[in-house]
Parts: sequence; C-alpha cells; structure tokens
Amino acid sequence: MTLEENIIQLLVEQADQCRQNARVPMTNFRVGAALITKNGKIFSGCNVELANYLYSICAERTALVKMISEGDDLPVAIAVIADTNNPIAPCGQCRSMLYDFNPDLLIIMATTRSSEVLIKTIGELLPYTYKRSDR
Ligand SMILES: [Zn+2]
Repeated sequence: MTLEENIIQLLVEQADQCRQNARVPMTNFRVGAALITKNGKIFSGCNVELANYLYSICAERTALVKMISEGDDLPVAIAVIADTNNPIAPCGQCRSMLYDFNPDLLIIMATTRSSEVLIKTIGELLPYTYKRSDR
C-alpha cells in the first residue's frame, strides 16, 4: 500500500499535536503517534509514564487502545514522532503489538527536528515474527 503525501503529513501533524499531551514526569521525553484505519478514522496517542516505569505506555499503543475502544479495528498506517536527531522508530513491544493488528501496517517515522520521514512496513521492522497461523 502507498499513502498519499497529504495523509502522511496529516498523520505526522496529528502525532506531533498529541505529543504535547504526553505525561512524562520521569523522562521528559514526549512521543506522539497517530494512526489511520481502513475506515479513514484517525486515532492519536501519546506516551503516559507512571512512577513505576514498567507500567507506562507508549504513544503507539495508546493510539491502538483508543482505536479498539472506539470500535475500529484495522490500522493501515501509523506515524510516530519525537524530538530526536533522526526519525524515531517504535520500540520492540510496540512493534509486536502493531504487527498483531496488521502485518502490512505502514510505519511513518518522523522527528520534530526536520521534515525527514522514514516509511517501512511493520514486517520490515519485525521480520521472522511469530504468527497465529504458525500454530
Ligand atoms: Zn513503544
């Protein structure tokens, strides 16, 4: 699947806007994400940190949880953005969860420091992944 440039830009903008809402008392590292579903709905998310860092949640998973709780179920692309030197990539836990929802999901990696974006499929970021069909 290819995405139109205006959709890519919209997702990056929505992700960056949501990034402002991040709750980051421990790291002060704000991350935003925004996904679009097959139905054309957009769900955004930010990272939410807790005093016990293990219970914190990333921006990407926040967006996925919002998508499910609002009754949608098939993300086709997700943008993630942070204030980093290079476009930020999802962590391992997020990659695993994103793959579970759509093995062909497009990951749009962005940074607040430039207009550079890197686009890969989740399968490229997480090769040789366990699949339910492998059972
Ligand atoms: Zn993550």
